[in-house]
Amino acid sequence: MRKITEIIVHCTATRADWWAGKRTSEKVREIKRWHVTPKPEGRGWSDIGYHFLIDRDGTIAKGRDIARDGAHVQGRNAGTIGISLFGGHGSSETDRFEEHFTPEQDAALRNLIADLREQFGNVPVTGHNQDAAKACPGFNAPAWFARKAPPKPPVSAPKPPAAPSPAKPATGRLAVLLRLLAAMFRKG
Ligand SMILES: [Zn+2]
Repeated sequence: MRKITEIIVHCTATRADWWAGKRTSEKVREIKRWHVTPKPEGRGWSDIGYHFLIDRDGTIAKGRDIARDGAHVQGRNAGTIGISLFGGHGSSETDRFEEHFTPEQDAALRNLIADLREQFGNVPVTGHNQDAAKACPGFNAPAWFARKAPPKPPVSAPKPPAAPSPAKPATGRLAVLLRLLAAMFRKG
């Protein structure tokens, strides 16, 4: 196994509803076709460029064998693993994950990254746009990863304990007791 030093996130730049209703395996085969079709129609690569692809419903599919360098980021394929999220068409590098991808993809990507980091150590997680002047994957991957979990809908924060109400003058038996105590201390 080659030494892994980084995980790089990508998107397929397809529309959110691209090939909706088709199986993940069919979509992966189509992406592979784009990558292996000879130039100029395709990329002319030996295999699909990414090591993993994550469908809109969170299904994770294998692409190229992770033992082999991928073809996903120019000049940085050695030692890196490329994961691509289906979607991201029209995204820009300053967008947020949620604008282009699903909560299922968020969870699946986090799980996959956790598995890979368990296998290969806590390698950095970056996006294609860190390495190239590209929008891909359509968000800031390190910032997304640092967030640790999808943003939750705002929940009302637990209320701090109510501030003690201003002391009321002691009345009744309590007042008598307090006066007694005060008197005892004065004597002491
Ligand atoms: Zn990319």
